Formats: sequence, structure tokens, C-alpha cells
Amino acid sequence: MRSIAAFAAATALAAACAAAPQAQQPPTFDGPRAFADLKAMVEIGPRPSGSPAIEKTRDYIRKQLAAAGLKAEDQAFDAQTPTGTVHMVNIRATLPGQATDKGRIVVGGHYDTKLFKDITFVGASDAGSSAAFLLELARALKGRQNALPIELLFLDGEEAVVDWSGTDHTYGSRYYVQQAKKAGATKDIRAFILVDMIGDRDLNIRREQNSTPWLTDAIWSTAKKLNRPEFVDDPWPIEDDHLEFLTEGIESVDIIDLDYPSWHKATDDLAHVSARSLQAVGDVLIAALPLIEARLR
Ligand SMILES: [Zn+2]
Repeated sequence: MRSIAAFAAATALAAACAAAPQAQQPPTFDGPRAFADLKAMVEIGPRPSGSPAIEKTRDYIRKQLAAAGLKAEDQAFDAQTPTGTVHMVNIRATLPGQATDKGRIVVGGHYDTKLFKDITFVGASDAGSSAAFLLELARALKGRQNALPIELLFLDGEEAVVDWSGTDHTYGSRYYVQQAKKAGATKDIRAFILVDMIGDRDLNIRREQNSTPWLTDAIWSTAKKLNRPEFVDDPWPIEDDHLEFLTEGIESVDIIDLDYPSWHKATDDLAHVSARSLQAVGDVLIAALPLIEARLR
């Protein structure tokens, strides 16, 4: 993803309630367990689209989903990139919901890391954190009575193969939305919640300005209630996977901390991310779900 404001300034550099869960057992998001997933993926090494390492990452994701009792489904495609055809795979798994005719909520994030030839880029926050977050969310929500089905979507190809321009980015989300459009099924995606770069140990998540206001409000107001200072009110616009959904009229929100000095640097490593940050986002999103569901059911 990229910050539109920063990009404009630096084009020359431009690489770049009703649905409350029944009280049996409130879902708990286990930050340290999510961090263990993040670490396992970082230890695979750089994981760019089309690489043997990203195939290993997929195996890891599928195994963890299976262990959580979920069936992983691949959505494979060949992306045309500036350097040629790259095989990419989105992975999705769905948690059932009480309503079967009201569409679904999709919670997504990318799991590919940006390709760098000059540095070893292991992408702890970008995109270890999003992939790890979704895995822990699978475990946290599997015993919850969700109002609508919740699809967890692991996106490939968010990163530009060369530079973030034209269509050289967000390959996975673009393909996913195009397929939904072809099937006449974009209406079934009632909301898209994107997480990206949420591992920063100094977590600051600003309101992303392209996002749908009511979805943003639901999450940020919940963060206030929970006294989570990681969610801050300053707005800023970011180009990310959610734009592909918004373009088709799908209400979407991007939960992202791009205020990360290690962004696209070799220092995006385990020393610069924390379980606490994953915990903050997990607690807030789980607590915000009833608000979101109440609006959609
Ligand atoms: Zn990135």
C-alpha cells in the first residue's frame, strides 16, 4: 500500500446488541499466539508472490486453518505483472453465521511480502502481521455465534512487483472482486474489513479516509470504549486492497499503521513488532463486531 499524501509529495522517489454473541464463552484473541504465527512466517524468510517461500507460507496457513477446524479454499490465478506472469493464490475460509441469506462479512489481509533484490526483507509487520492476525481470528471466532458468515481472506499480490503504479499492486484483491463481479455476487459481500501492517510495536492506527465512515466509526468508537490509544483520530488516505472493493460499492475499512519507520526496510523484523499490537487490534475488532453485525443483519 502507499500513502497518497506521501506519494504526491515524493513522486520522484516513488517506488513505491442485536447480534451480540451468546454468552457461552466470549471470544478471546490471543496476541502471543498470533505472534507465534507471525514469527513462524518470518522464519520462512522473504515471501514474495510466485516464490517457493510463499508456497511454504500457504502450507503454514492451510495447516493452521485446518487445526482450527476450518476448510481452506484456494483461489488461484495467473497475474500479468511488469516482469511477466506470476502465479498467485488467495486463500479463504468461512466461519458459519446464523443468517444464511444476508451475505457475509469478509475480513482480509495480504500475506505476500514485497520483493527486494538488494535487502533481505522478511516483512514482520508487512505482511506477517495481517496473515497472523487472520489465523488467530479464525481460532477466536470459531466458537462464536456470528450473525452473518465471516470469511477470512488471505490475499496474495498486494505488493507491487516493481513500482506501485498502474495496476502493479493489489493483484489478489482485484482478482477476488472481479470474480465476485462476474458471478453477480458483489452484493453478498456486505462489508470488507482489511488489516494491514498492524504489528508495529509503536502502533498508531489513523482513520483511513477512503474507508466507509460507519464502519470506521464502529471500530474507532469501540477502541475509545476499550481505552485503546493505538486507534487515533487523525485521518489520512491510503491506497490499499480495500480500494478494489470500494470501487464496486462494497463498504470497506482499512485498519493500517503506515506510520512505521521500518516500512519496506530490512528492519521490518521481529524486533520492531509486538504481540501487544496484534492484541490491541484483535480486542477492538472482536468487540466491534456486534455493532457491525447489527447494522448488516
Ligand atoms: Zn508493503
